[in-house]
Amino acid sequence: MKPSILLFSLFGIASTSAFALDPLSYAHYDQVKTRAVHLDLAADFTRKTLSGYAELTLDWLDPNARTLDLDTRGLAIGRVQVQDRQGKWSPAPFKLDKLDEEKGQALHIALKTQPAKVRIDYRTSPNAAALQWLTPAQTMSGKRPFMFSQSQSINARSWVPLQDTPAVRFTYTARIAAPDGLRVVMSADNDAKATGKGGWKFTMPQPIPSYLLAIGIGELEARSLGGRTGVYAEPLRIEAAEYELADTEKMVAAAESLYGPYRWGRYDMLVLPPSFPIGGMENPRLTFLTPTMIAGDRSLVDLIAHELAHSWSGNLVTNASWKHWWLNEGFTTYVTTRILEKLYGPEVATMNLQLEQEEALEELKTIPVPKQALLTKDEDTSSAQYTDEGLAYPKGAWFLRTLEQRAGRAVFDPFLRGWFDQHAFQSVTTEQFVAYLRTALLARHPDVMSDVELDAWLHGPGIPASAVHASSPRLAALDLKRNQWLKGDLTTAQLDTKAWSALEWMKFLNDIDGSAQARASLAQLRELNAANHLAGSGNNEIAFRFYRAAIHAGERGIRPQLEAFLLSVGRQKFVIPLYTALRADAGDKAWAEQVYQRARPRYHPVTQGSVDKLMTTK
Ligand SMILES: [Zn+2]
Repeated sequence: MKPSILLFSLFGIASTSAFALDPLSYAHYDQVKTRAVHLDLAADFTRKTLSGYAELTLDWLDPNARTLDLDTRGLAIGRVQVQDRQGKWSPAPFKLDKLDEEKGQALHIALKTQPAKVRIDYRTSPNAAALQWLTPAQTMSGKRPFMFSQSQSINARSWVPLQDTPAVRFTYTARIAAPDGLRVVMSADNDAKATGKGGWKFTMPQPIPSYLLAIGIGELEARSLGGRTGVYAEPLRIEAAEYELADTEKMVAAAESLYGPYRWGRYDMLVLPPSFPIGGMENPRLTFLTPTMIAGDRSLVDLIAHELAHSWSGNLVTNASWKHWWLNEGFTTYVTTRILEKLYGPEVATMNLQLEQEEALEELKTIPVPKQALLTKDEDTSSAQYTDEGLAYPKGAWFLRTLEQRAGRAVFDPFLRGWFDQHAFQSVTTEQFVAYLRTALLARHPDVMSDVELDAWLHGPGIPASAVHASSPRLAALDLKRNQWLKGDLTTAQLDTKAWSALEWMKFLNDIDGSAQARASLAQLRELNAANHLAGSGNNEIAFRFYRAAIHAGERGIRPQLEAFLLSVGRQKFVIPLYTALRADAGDKAWAEQVYQRARPRYHPVTQGSVDKLMTTK
């Protein structure tokens, strides 16, 4: 189906920009929008399914519409009922359309009238793209199974039939039945004292887009971190999690001092088993986290700052379709550094920023030019033409940083806060941001950015030449030491690594793994590892960078630790570059494939999909 074009003004939203429906969804939200969802589901760990019903409360916008089109993927639909004005339920005919690789299957529901509610009985597939079902052996205690979701970007449809687009927001309630001994948590109001008798009940009073629907079920303990912050984790991990996340309450306060009140009630976190495919997911009221961020020394809490920042950029003000991804991630990356600066001072923030920018420039070398734009110029018709997913983070942040540096914080900070306040609980496009930028900032400060430069940031490749590169004196001192060490003028002992922060390690390991003349020799890497135990390091960001450098240097001695890492950690940020590096070396390729065969069943479907794709490329 071709997406129809209509004007925002039809909905009474003040904008004249032409607006295409989200091409990654079958929903016709120009005709009807979901206002609320209720889920009544039972989790069956033997069959690896959720089954029950979803009830959607609808707002009809087009009086002539007589079809409801929902997104699904792999769902077995039992029946569909609609509720009339008198509250009576009656069956409605429906059809599941053919499978589209990217979008899944449309569920067409034929209607005689415009019902206020529709109820769909269904069951998820054991291979649901959003859900990972872990056996007891894959958990820390080994006693009980675990299940968790990852709905972003378009996988909510694999566990709930709904309008799966960030353009539609709804509140939700849920009742979830789970086996005894397991706790259910959701991206909603979680009650740490709940017992689950009669099902676990949830209410999410703030309207969210579908990708923020989230569920976790497992052997979980809760600890309070402060007045409105807490953490859930497996019992054997709860103490480490509590220690690592101790600064969370302060972080919420720091973010509020910059961007206004936190609007979601509580900020809790769920630490997942290591197969969680990403670093963190900003599920509202309950951020989902990889346990690989637990380093034992609170050195990787920038991840929390990032997920917390999403409470403003992304969750509160949401990209209207995935083409505008940088509005979520670029803004969040910028806000993260501001939170870090507020909490830990400018030196830490600048080191973070420099590393982020350097890694972005490195990444750019591998990204096709058309995908280097923050917003590609093509119509929003297919994800194939969207901006490179990873680049949107640092490039979007660099763009905002440039505006901040030129306008000054006295002007820029209220401007950014105004963006969040004026678009709270709305879905937005880049065009709307540009309009806001023009009226709220450039109208009074035209020198901050010319139209040509604005266009270069939004639609051009790379990083514009005028961009200021962050430069940390501490990292500059590290550069000097590194060069001397590479040349042999400084011994490994003289590097004095005991005083290094995790950030300094990350920067150092990046830089000794660069182009040929700046690369550490095999002997140097071995010495560095012997002195600092980098292979098997409890800090996964450090371990990952060391493994990558070691693979490039042809070091096979670290295979036992590397294999253990690949078998236990399913975070895409780590495993994809490592498999890529291994496959590039003829001597490692077969070994990598063999390790992946064993690791694959332990990974989340999202990671499986990415690595499968990688393994079949030449
Ligand atoms: Zn993010």
